[in-house]
Amino acid sequence: MNLVERVRQTAIEQPGKVAYHFLGRDTSYGEFEQQVSLFASALQDLGVEKGDHVAFLLGNSPHFLISLYATMRIGATAIPVNPMYTPDEISYIIQNGDVKLVIALDMLLPLVELGVKAFPQVDKYIICETMPDIKEKLASLSDAAKDKVQLFSKLLSSTTTIVDPMPLNDEDVAIILYTSGTTGYPKGAMLTHRNLYSNARDVSEYLTINTDDRVIATLPVFHVFALTVVVNAPLLKGATVLLAPRFSPQEIYELAGSQKATVFAGVPTMYNFLYQHEGDISNFSSLRLAISGGAPLPVQVLYDFEKKFNVRVSEGYGLSEASPVTCFNPLDRERKAGSIGTSIVNVENKVVDVNGNEVPIGEVGELIVRGPNVMKGYYKMPEETENAIRDGWLYTGDLAKQDEDGYFYIVDRKKDMIIVGGFNVYPREVEEVLFSHPKVIEAAVVGFPDPNLGEAVCAFVVLKDNTISADDLREYCAQHIVKYKVPKVIEILDELPKNSTGKILRRSLKEMPITN
Ligand code: AMP
Repeated sequence: MNLVERVRQTAIEQPGKVAYHFLGRDTSYGEFEQQVSLFASALQDLGVEKGDHVAFLLGNSPHFLISLYATMRIGATAIPVNPMYTPDEISYIIQNGDVKLVIALDMLLPLVELGVKAFPQVDKYIICETMPDIKEKLASLSDAAKDKVQLFSKLLSSTTTIVDPMPLNDEDVAIILYTSGTTGYPKGAMLTHRNLYSNARDVSEYLTINTDDRVIATLPVFHVFALTVVVNAPLLKGATVLLAPRFSPQEIYELAGSQKATVFAGVPTMYNFLYQHEGDISNFSSLRLAISGGAPLPVQVLYDFEKKFNVRVSEGYGLSEASPVTCFNPLDRERKAGSIGTSIVNVENKVVDVNGNEVPIGEVGELIVRGPNVMKGYYKMPEETENAIRDGWLYTGDLAKQDEDGYFYIVDRKKDMIIVGGFNVYPREVEEVLFSHPKVIEAAVVGFPDPNLGEAVCAFVVLKDNTISADDLREYCAQHIVKYKVPKVIEILDELPKNSTGKILRRSLKEMPITN
């Protein structure tokens, strides 16, 4: 079984069931299946073959869903890319990923001119129209660029043949995901049909996502969290995806109310924004489950959100290389605040020391993962692959501990740990203390070089108002944590730098000038 086949079966069994909702319009499974098979046929007409790489530079729209399922259907490999990346970042992925065809938003038309010279191996660009003056923009392209451009809507409306589903090999690469890039150089994690299908299936089973669910998809769909949890899992279960073109608290309130959303999934910053937003909370009265992942959810934010919206928040954990989910707080047992929960079905998690031996309960070590969700490897990077997957276990690079009930806790990323005069400081622990202060909206802690101690703790915070100072906050921290963990420097900012998935960019914080 694979995702494409599963959706096709739903289309046969329940053709009228709504597959996705976008900007006031419902599309049924029957229609979705038709769109997918027509677009798959159009891709084949453009010369895309089994094993070819197709890059998507798309946001949260039906274009993405149709492109993804059509590409998988013909056995080609999809490479979803953040459309807001700079031309350099996009070029790197297109080159490294050996992309043959690009499907992009019309605002990226200048990329076609660039590509004619920079990456001639790209045969075609399928442009998705969103702007009214797209025809004029197309007319102004050079002849070489014009030759390579096709319009998405035209392809879909002019194709009449339908591609019969071809048998897909479980071990073939369905997508390559270039990991988020908050640290290090992007590497392409190759996820097979089996990886994607098993994780969507296991996550939906664990979180009881079912055909009656209406799942808000506001997380960016080019990121693995959204891809599995709010796109593939609901589609696999015959549920409805409520596609939100962007994250805006007011729009999410409205979407949740008008569409009677039952499940919301977001990164912690989204929880923070929804909590702070003054709107009608009765819009969330159908919500049965809120899912957090992608970054640590501060326990204060979790408690505040649960209380305000009267819904259970289940935090989980994952990474691109594991398709992504490995842990979630279970629904049929206790929800432990600050924990990423227990291993989901079919996936094993273990905490090990530097020699790969399991550490005793309560001790900190590296989290490693095994299961059908673990990637095939990094594209064209055998050394990095060997380093990441050893004896069948994926080394996550995250430090964690486990309690006696089998719940895991992410302590921090291995590389984010700060060493102050020989003592380990986990930024997360300091961030939790800062978050517990009622005037703190956001907080991030990084290490800075210090001439005496090797490294010093520096905190960046966003405050509700300016009634407290950095010194007040330092004093507050001193009441809760040992002296060497108290930030030496606290910088107050209007907002924290984040990537498009809402993860805080620690690298940018480290490069910021210190003013106090
Ligand atoms: P990505 O591959 O972009 O999904 O990033 C994966 C990384 O996000 C993991 O290796 C963790 O460092 C981090 N992460 C994901 N979920 C959590 C969580 N619940 N708590 C802490 N860190 C998380």
